[in-house]
Amino acid sequence: MHFSNSYTSLDDFFYERTRPTPVHDPHIFLWNASLAEQLMIPNELKHDPNALAQAFSGNYIMPGSEPIATVYAGHQFGSFVPQLGDGRAHLLGEVLDQSGEGWDIQLKGSGRTSFSRGGDGRCALGPAVREFIMSEAMKFLGVPTTRCLAVVTTGETVFRETPLPGAVVTRVASSHLRIGTFQFFASRGDHQALETLCHYAMGRHYPELQEEGENQYVSFLSKVMERQIQLVVEWMRVGFIHGVMNTDNTTISGETIDYGPCAMMGIYDPRTVYSSIDTMGRYAFGNQPGILHWNLIRFAECLLPLIDADGEKAVHQVEPVLAAFSDRFEKEYMKMMGRKLGLASLKKGDRELIDSVLKQLKDGRLDYTVTFNLLTESLKSEAAASQVKKSLGDVFDLWQERLRDQEAVLQEVQELMWQSNPVVIPRNHHVEKVIQASLETGTATSAEKFLRVLRSPYEELAQTSDYQDPPSDGDSDYKTFCGT
Ligand code: AMP
Ligand code: MG
Repeated sequence: MHFSNSYTSLDDFFYERTRPTPVHDPHIFLWNASLAEQLMIPNELKHDPNALAQAFSGNYIMPGSEPIATVYAGHQFGSFVPQLGDGRAHLLGEVLDQSGEGWDIQLKGSGRTSFSRGGDGRCALGPAVREFIMSEAMKFLGVPTTRCLAVVTTGETVFRETPLPGAVVTRVASSHLRIGTFQFFASRGDHQALETLCHYAMGRHYPELQEEGENQYVSFLSKVMERQIQLVVEWMRVGFIHGVMNTDNTTISGETIDYGPCAMMGIYDPRTVYSSIDTMGRYAFGNQPGILHWNLIRFAECLLPLIDADGEKAVHQVEPVLAAFSDRFEKEYMKMMGRKLGLASLKKGDRELIDSVLKQLKDGRLDYTVTFNLLTESLKSEAAASQVKKSLGDVFDLWQERLRDQEAVLQEVQELMWQSNPVVIPRNHHVEKVIQASLETGTATSAEKFLRVLRSPYEELAQTSDYQDPPSDGDSDYKTFCGT
């Protein structure tokens, strides 16, 4: 693999040079062959399972890689932690893919670093499998996300509440820059470092801004805001609950990162929350847009000193950007919901229609994915139409009336709804079952079977129906954990 290490060209206070701690007996558990293809992993490595296990456990440092742990800070559940950093991850470097795009290659669970605090630097197999499955599902759902190239078992035990098999995940991301990375330097008043970081981040993600003069940092804020809006709107489309939207888990690239306590919403209810530590419901499904806004304000605060030395003038410049958030989000959200209902463009009154559909879903405790699938089916099936009419009542008739009202032909409506409404999502009870099977059998057979279906989420394959059933108890007792 041809590594470059652009982050190590920054000053050494952006990271610590540190090597993964070797593991006892590494074996490849999950391997992402198509991603490996995209990243042009050399054949001699790809076809040698032992070499792969050595390289992606951190036992063998590939030529050209300069492993580092990056430093960052972050607001966790609203409280500022001035120093976090990669406490169990090693950035190996970047590689270019087939189309010349650059990707960070990071090992997670690869041992302690100086940012580990009390932690052991390790990762258990269960959360590693979860990250692989969830990120792969998101990728094929069409949601921007970091990905997993490999899960390697370590042959070692990690101790959480109980002893668990250990694993190392290889994460692939367009970068690991987070709002928290900026907060680390901003909170120390290190404007020089902040400026360096901004230029580095713009160079990687928003090169078009390099040309801009004075308002560069304001534009930077806008761009990050737009990407994050697109991201969270996509989460809302498929029913994804991130679960830990701390500022250190909010990327500058607009990719989903950190699959610790995430879950999928079954029954539609904006208050849905599954994370065991989120007792206040801060990161509930329907709070995600508001939290994103909050996180972006934290990001804007970091940029103020670069925008203008006069604090008041700087605030004056970012205010219009942040003030536009709610309208921007609403617009994109409504556009997305309209598409879920087969409306290519919105007109007056559609907002009310969308609200009524969602209210009916919530009041009737209806499954989000199942109901939108039935609506899609209802375009061509009488049986589906009468089934969904039973649960949506008058709202169903209103929707049909609205469809008749638009120019689009039936085929276009169908197309739009197929593209917007997955037939299968990684439902919590299936994810848990597959993780359990992975741990019990020590093989990835059931994970691979699940992944085959999740990689075609808009298509009914022979095996799809095995995974479409909503949880029998509506996930009422379901809890997720950070997995640390
Ligand atoms: P996360 O909840 O994964 O976003 O992690 C929050 C912070 O805790 C990051 O700085 C992680 O590197 C650190 N962390 C989480 N688990 C461990 C662990 N087992 N050992 C060391 N650091 C950890
Ligand atoms: Mg994190």
